[in-house]
Amino acid sequence: MIELRNIVKEYNTENMVTRALDGLDLTLDNGEYVAVMGCSGSGKSTLLHILGGMDRATSGQYLWDGREISGLDAKELEKFRKEHVSFVFQNYMLMNSYTVFENIEVPLIARGVKAKQRKETVEKYMELVGISDLAGKLPIHISGGQQQRCGIARALAADTDLLLADEPTGALDRKTGEEIMDVFDRIKGERTIVLVTHDENIASRTDRILHIEDGKLMR
Ligand code: ADP
Ligand code: MG
Repeated sequence: MIELRNIVKEYNTENMVTRALDGLDLTLDNGEYVAVMGCSGSGKSTLLHILGGMDRATSGQYLWDGREISGLDAKELEKFRKEHVSFVFQNYMLMNSYTVFENIEVPLIARGVKAKQRKETVEKYMELVGISDLAGKLPIHISGGQQQRCGIARALAADTDLLLADEPTGALDRKTGEEIMDVFDRIKGERTIVLVTHDENIASRTDRILHIEDGKLMR
């Protein structure tokens, strides 16, 4: 279970302070599938970064199964991320000189998984997301929707309990976006999924919609 309590996140730039999160409270049960909606600048990405341990809150408490994450130092936070968090990006963020297979293999290599097991795992997730026939292709030779499938497979290969997706359908047309949501349907329940979107239709495919406004969740 994830608990955020009174989370404040301020960014200091030159002589200005931006309060991106302003006393945000959130509880997520394990395996929940939630969407975060809100205007541009409302704090959606900042919330994902805090949840993912990519950034630390200015104040407030972050508890992971009761364990305090807010107080971790940079090294401990890195370990937390590796163990628990994977990310799906709007622009896929694949390695352009790596094949589809190799992209999905990256987190497995990082975890020290042996070659034979890596191959099995990569094949399993390629099949799950529907890109088994693209294993040897480079990202530039496949469509955006296929690249996002690869991004999701890579996130799954990391085998984490929290999957964060920042506008994963934001660069895709409507139909392809819906197809990507079909992929999320296949994986929901196994991991906690937090998906940021602008799109009401996309959000309605999840089990719970959170609305964020000026760094606070609306009730
Ligand atoms: P969203 O993802 O909902 O568009 P963000 O979380 O990216 O919103 O941003 C929330 C607010 O924090 C915005 O006002 C944005 O300009 C500001 N902000 C985000 N990241 C930074 C940063 N690294 N430095 C300074 N300000 C930032
Ligand atoms: Mg954003």
